[in-house]
Amino acid sequence: MRVDAHLDLAYNALDLGRDLTLPLEALREAAQTPDTPLVSLPSLREGGFGLVFATVFVDPKRHAERLYPEALRQLALYREWEERGLVRLVRSRRDLETHLRAYPEDGVLGLLLLLEGAHVLPEPEALDELHALGVRMVGLTWATANAYAGGNAEPAPLTPLGEALLRRMEALGVALDVSHLSDAAFFPALSHFRGPVAATHANARALTPTPRHLSDEMLLALKAREGVVGLVPFNTFLDPAWTRGMPRLPLNALFAHKTYLEARLGRERVGLGSDWDGGFGLEYVPMGLEAHRDLERLGDEGFLGGNWLRWLQTWL
Ligand SMILES: [Zn+2]
Repeated sequence: MRVDAHLDLAYNALDLGRDLTLPLEALREAAQTPDTPLVSLPSLREGGFGLVFATVFVDPKRHAERLYPEALRQLALYREWEERGLVRLVRSRRDLETHLRAYPEDGVLGLLLLLEGAHVLPEPEALDELHALGVRMVGLTWATANAYAGGNAEPAPLTPLGEALLRRMEALGVALDVSHLSDAAFFPALSHFRGPVAATHANARALTPTPRHLSDEMLLALKAREGVVGLVPFNTFLDPAWTRGMPRLPLNALFAHKTYLEARLGRERVGLGSDWDGGFGLEYVPMGLEAHRDLERLGDEGFLGGNWLRWLQTWL
């Protein structure tokens, strides 16, 4: 089974108004956005992607006055999809085993719920409710600094509230996604948190030198914690000189990051975290990639899913 470790599905549905139950071609015809859509539930199925880490991502500006209610609204959508038989929430090891058995027969997409950005939490204890609704992974920040930690766009350290949230995550059995953490928060977060860690969507900073990506020191620390990194097929993240309007990059730009990450982490610790439609569309991805079915060009079944599944089986 293939795994994509980062997709903002609820954000796509609610903020961008896309009906993700439609085939990708229909979404593309109906698109009101300047970016051409890359993801729909049928296109994931067509690509053999049976499990995705589906985010609760609440745009901090757009929903500034109602962050937590918007997070609940996204979770309610995932629940509604589950009730309609479109997805299966994976909340436990047992759910995962059930899903692995059922998927080849029914093709129902599994969702592992990931909170991208703790800015939605009014206090660390609020995580208990989100956990009860299925959230099993948390990234402390999304780009900006918040009450818990600094992000890649706004450097700041881990705060005492951030430490309290990490303790809450540990107690609940929730994993830490280190993507988007600022350098000043990354290492303190790892040392305050004893639970499972991963970077669902980040590339190599050595090749794309911005704070959004993982430095060699970070990769070493993730390896020591048996974490997995999800590679992002997004031109801006592959080549810092690339901007929209330039020809789409060749796949080699992606392989350079993959090879680099694999050399530092080991091949069994690199997977996929596409983040497709998480702020960019088809115009921003390497040539040869039009939909999830094309991602099989990028690697073997370990890279396409097995590495994430093994990681989940160590802690879920
Ligand atoms: Zn992100």
